[in-house]
Amino acid sequence: MPELPEVETVRRGLAPAMEGRIIARLTQKRPDLRFPLPERFAARLSGRRISHLSRRAKYILAHLEPGGGAGAEVLIMHLGMSGRFTIHGADGARAPGLFHHGMPGGETHDHIVFDMEDGTRIVYADHRRFGFMDLVPEAGLEDCRHLAGLGPEPLGNEFSAATLAVRFKGRRTPVKTALLDQRNVAGLGNIYVCEALWRSGISPKRSAATVAGPARTERLAASIRDVLTEAIAAGGSTLRDYAHTDGELGYFQHSFAVYDREGEACSKPGCGGTVRRIVQSARSTFYCPSCQR
Ligand SMILES: [Zn+2]
Repeated sequence: MPELPEVETVRRGLAPAMEGRIIARLTQKRPDLRFPLPERFAARLSGRRISHLSRRAKYILAHLEPGGGAGAEVLIMHLGMSGRFTIHGADGARAPGLFHHGMPGGETHDHIVFDMEDGTRIVYADHRRFGFMDLVPEAGLEDCRHLAGLGPEPLGNEFSAATLAVRFKGRRTPVKTALLDQRNVAGLGNIYVCEALWRSGISPKRSAATVAGPARTERLAASIRDVLTEAIAAGGSTLRDYAHTDGELGYFQHSFAVYDREGEACSKPGCGGTVRRIVQSARSTFYCPSCQR
């Protein structure tokens, strides 16, 4: 499942093909993805210019200029488990920026097609259909049903040790679970929570309340920012590396320090511990009992 850094990488890959461009025609090949697509979805998007793309948590937001009788609106796109975009250049060749999971399926799973005015074709495919798209007014975007209640963006100015401290204070839930709670911090998933806890030397089993002090929240907030920033940078370099090959680009080419490394030696210098896997809130947690306390 793509997490925040992968979604940000997709946003950056889409930006050159979408920002400032007009959607000449949108084609929807089915009435729904995870949820029903909005009423008159294709008609409402065709002819609209995308001013820019942004991201909130794991949502890619395409900001649409007013047009077709509608005011400024935002196309909200969520990749779910298996959503991927392919960009085909105006000459029909695949342009750099195909995002995929290496799944078979061909065109059967091509659900939404954006034909841009400059001839570029952007195809959204999603074989498991956990992704979705929605169209909401720009005014009140933060209060729409998808974004309402989301906590601060972990790479944004509102996120800090202090915001973690407020949210963790008095909470008996494990810190791992608290970090996955999107109301506390937006966009973190299982992989990067494991990585951030390992990097900050904090046990995933600790109650959130015992992490609420300044020393641990400082370490944790810094680790969260660092693991996300490094993964986004790796995604960006992957975009560049693949720019001159066949345009295929996978999500999961990063290697993780602790995630999915059960039984391996902890890579922290001087630790000597072994990575363990436990289950918390029905999700696998990978951590090192020696250096995460
Ligand atoms: Zn260790």
